[in-house]
Amino acid sequence: MSTAIVVGSGPNGLAAAVVLARSGAQVTVLEAASEIGGGTRSGEAIMPGLLHDHCSAIHPMAVGSAFLQSLGLERHGLTWRWPEIDCVHPLDGGEAGVLHRSVEATAAGLGRDGSRWRLAFAGPAARFDMLAEDIMGPLLRLPRHPLALARFGLPTLLPGSAIARLFTTERGRALFGGVAAHAFRPLHYPLSSAIALGIIAAGHRHGWPVAAGGSRSISAALAAVLAEHGGRIETGIEVRHARDLPPADITMFDLAPRAVADIIGDRLPSRVTRAYRRFRHAPGAFKVDFAVDGGVPWTNPDAHRAGTLHLGGPYAEIAATERDIHAGRMPERPFVLIGQQYLADPQRSVGDIHPLYSYAHVPHGYTGDATQAVISQIERFAPGFRERIVGHVSRSTTDMHAHNPNYVGGDIVTGAKDVRQLVFGPQPTLSPYDTGIPGMYICSAATPPGPGAHGMCGANAAETALRHFRRSRLA
Ligand SMILES: Cc1cc2nc3c(=O)[nH]c(=O)nc-3n(C[C@H](O)[C@H](O)[C@H](O)COP(=O)(O)OP(=O)(O)OC[C@H]3O[C@@H](n4cnc5c(N)ncnc54)[C@H](O)[C@@H]3O)c2cc1C
Repeated sequence: MSTAIVVGSGPNGLAAAVVLARSGAQVTVLEAASEIGGGTRSGEAIMPGLLHDHCSAIHPMAVGSAFLQSLGLERHGLTWRWPEIDCVHPLDGGEAGVLHRSVEATAAGLGRDGSRWRLAFAGPAARFDMLAEDIMGPLLRLPRHPLALARFGLPTLLPGSAIARLFTTERGRALFGGVAAHAFRPLHYPLSSAIALGIIAAGHRHGWPVAAGGSRSISAALAAVLAEHGGRIETGIEVRHARDLPPADITMFDLAPRAVADIIGDRLPSRVTRAYRRFRHAPGAFKVDFAVDGGVPWTNPDAHRAGTLHLGGPYAEIAATERDIHAGRMPERPFVLIGQQYLADPQRSVGDIHPLYSYAHVPHGYTGDATQAVISQIERFAPGFRERIVGHVSRSTTDMHAHNPNYVGGDIVTGAKDVRQLVFGPQPTLSPYDTGIPGMYICSAATPPGPGAHGMCGANAAETALRHFRRSRLA
């Protein structure tokens, strides 16, 4: 029987572990933290019974992940719950761009931009499951559906600003711009529309659900499948050096590239060491969780029914704030993402006290306190919010990194999504999961297809490892 070690129990580490264990390998996962899950951890933070997602919250990519779907995670308690409205982008004055799971409903709310929204997203949404076979893995390989990929892929080469210009209303432009900000890239850069086009297409196909009982239900279900196949997880084990690694046929690193270079050291080929050490990280996130009495008094009525809100004002303001954080400047009014997971999953609340999830986009490694900037941004669209706060906890970029070493400088997307890193991952090669050492692989969200709790980086990396292992056995 072959043996495998997986370092890190984020969704990609667990996905890799499941693929390897299902193939018959004896798998051990080593996790530095005291609990499993990495970016899918949830728990209490402010008062007993009030449940917060510590990292990921909204799951258009996980619910549509072919790999997660193949595991039947419902058997192990994973239940998706959809809010009435996926996402609202409020504007000053009370109106808002509203994203529904249905393309038609979204278009109907966008006035004269409705037909353009339909034109841009109806096709990719209808073909999303087929497209996912090509875009949820390394991009540089023979596509399974070349025509569909070309039709989807060509617009992704454009900057977000070019796609935003398709829309003539502020509601349409801002709604698109808020999703485009998920890339943490200036919106005039090439390919800065790619992540938004993927998330919007996935969302129109599968919606923007939350996991009942918190995102931790995703990792708990993955861990249960792993246990079914005989895999083991050891928590509180930080791997710092190659000598900390038990001998194994296959070793997978669910880590940021620089951490892999630190651990493996001189054994890495020098070109890989160079690429991993030069790996660029994205700007950071400053997270604030609130306990709110009676929920948020949003001015816009749809906002009371939305799982996610993007608070960034009009498109031009979002473009300016994303440019600022990229250049290392903290904006006065940063882009803030809000999660109201309790609307779809009421068991997270305690009576009429509700957990509100938020994070602001800030410069990489930002050392200031953005709590008041986040509160002011919420007040801007919900006057009276401040009086409803019962408690809050803030997590700076430094805290974020301490909570999970993969989030270097508060970078929650595991690497800048510039053209090179978006296309290739951590090094310019056709084999993005290979470290260059036989039997050792990187499988974190730094590799294709990138961030999200979909597990596809881990599953793809483990399939590569198994292919190499079987070939080496035959040789
Ligand atoms: C605030 C925030 C909000 C987010 N929102 C969303 C969202 O709404 N939807 C979405 O899909 N995604 C979201 N994400 C991104 C998503 O969480 C990540 O892309 C995903 O978790 C990456 O998974 P991973 O397995 O690659 O790594 P991680 O989840 O980062 O897991 C890595 C694991 O490795 C462990 N580790 C690190 N170093 C070592 C070591 N030396 N030895 C042993 N163990 C180690 C860590 O403790 C961690 O458990 C968010 C992330 C954050 C932080």
